[in-house]
Amino acid sequence: MSARKRVAVVGVGTMGSQAAWRLAARGAEVVGYDRFAPGHDRSAAGGETRIFRSAHFEDSRYVPLLKHADALWEELQRETGRELRRLTGCLLMGPTAHHQMSTVLESIAEHGLDHEVLDADLLAKRFPQYRIEDGDVAVLDRRAGFIRPELTVQTAARRAEELGARIHRYTPVREITSAGNGVEIRTDAGVERFDAVVVTVGPWVNDLLPELPWEVEIRRLVSAWYVPATADAWFGDERPAFIRTAPTHCYGLPSPDGVSVKLGLSRALHRPVDDPNRLDRTVDPAELEIFTELIGRHMPDLHPDPVRLSVFMEGYTESSRPLVGPLPGNDNVVLLAGFSGHGFKLSPAFGDIAADLALDGASSQPIDFISTSNRTEA
Ligand SMILES: Cc1cc2nc3c(=O)[nH]c(=O)nc-3n(C[C@H](O)[C@H](O)[C@H](O)COP(=O)(O)OP(=O)(O)OC[C@H]3O[C@@H](n4cnc5c(N)ncnc54)[C@H](O)[C@@H]3O)c2cc1C
Repeated sequence: MSARKRVAVVGVGTMGSQAAWRLAARGAEVVGYDRFAPGHDRSAAGGETRIFRSAHFEDSRYVPLLKHADALWEELQRETGRELRRLTGCLLMGPTAHHQMSTVLESIAEHGLDHEVLDADLLAKRFPQYRIEDGDVAVLDRRAGFIRPELTVQTAARRAEELGARIHRYTPVREITSAGNGVEIRTDAGVERFDAVVVTVGPWVNDLLPELPWEVEIRRLVSAWYVPATADAWFGDERPAFIRTAPTHCYGLPSPDGVSVKLGLSRALHRPVDDPNRLDRTVDPAELEIFTELIGRHMPDLHPDPVRLSVFMEGYTESSRPLVGPLPGNDNVVLLAGFSGHGFKLSPAFGDIAADLALDGASSQPIDFISTSNRTEA
C-alpha cells in the first residue's frame, strides 16, 4: 500500500469486525459504523456458539478459505489472549448415499483433512446420545468445534480499535454514494468521504442497497436449548458438535455451560423476514414441533421441553454462496453479504479478503466461485 488509505466499514458485526481488524492491521485508516454496537444480539451473530469445521459438505471449494480462516482464528486468539474457539470436533451424520456425505469425504480426501469414519456400531459405542438409522454413516471432522460469536465480534472490534480504528456505535449509515474516485457515507451526523467502503450489513443489505442486482432473502432462525437426562454422553471427554444431513437437516452443540444442548435447523425451515427492523423474536409453540420430532427420532435422551430459545436473522442467496466483491460500477464499494447460514467459521478469512479488495482491488485467495464479478444469478 503506498499512501495510507481511508476505508469505512459499514456494519461492525461478524464480517465487519474482522474486516476492521484486518484493515487496521495493514495500516489503513479505518472508520466503522454500526446501527447498534459490536456484539449485540439483534442480527446474525449471537446465541452462544457457532460451529467451526474444516471439511465442507456443501462445496469443497471452501476448504482453502477455511484453512486461511483457521490460521487467522489462531492469530486473533494469540494477539488478544482470548479463547474464541475450542476444537472439540464435529460429527457429520447421515445416509451413506446422501450427496453431502460424499462431498464431505471428497473434501477430506482432496485436502488431507484429519478425520475418522465411524460405522453404526462404533458410533453407538462412542456417541450413544445419537440414535442413527440403517445405512447411516458418521464422519468425525477433528479440526472442528465451536466458536463464541459475541466474544469474537467484540474481540475483533476491540483489536481493530487498539490498532487505530474508530468505531461509531448506534450510528446507522443511511446512504453510500460514489464521489469521484472515492465514496461518501451519509449518517444522521453528516457526510464523510473515503477511498473505499466495505459493506457488511448482514440482514440489512436490501435496505441499504435497494438496487442490489442479486437476491438476498432474509430469514429468521430459531435455536432451542434442551437438557439431557444423562449428562455423561454429551459432556464427557469428547464433546463434538454435530450436523445431521437427512432426512431433516439439523445441527447442534453441547453448550459450554456443560448443562444443555443447543439445536438448530436448516434453511428450508426458517421463515422469511419482511423487515429486519421488526424481527419477531417470539417463538410460536408450533415452531418447536420439528425440534420435538427430531429429538424423538435422533436424540431421545434430550428432555423435549426447551430451557432456552433464541431468534436471529441471516441473509440467504439462491445458491447459498455468499456475495463477495465490488458492487457493479463501483470498485471502491466492497460487498460481503448472503452468507446463507455458514459464514461465521470463515469470517476472519472474509475480513482479510475484504481488506485485500478495499486496499489492493484484488485478493490472492481463491474467491472466483463467490465473487460478485462472476455472478449472474437473480
Ligand atoms: C442462528 C444462526 C446459527 C448459525 N450457525 C452458524 C454456524 O454454526 N457456523 C457458521 O459458520 N455460521 C453460522 N451461522 C451464520 C453466521 O452467523 C452468519 O453467516 C454471519 O454471522 C453473518 O455475518 P454478517 O456480518 O453478514 O452479519 P451480522 O453479523 O449480522 O453483521 C451485520 C452488522 O451490520 C449492522 N448494520 C446493519 N445495517 C447497518 C447500517 N445501515 N449502518 C450501520 N450498521 C448496520 C448490524 O447492526 C450488524 O452489527 C449462523 C447464523 C445464525 C443466525
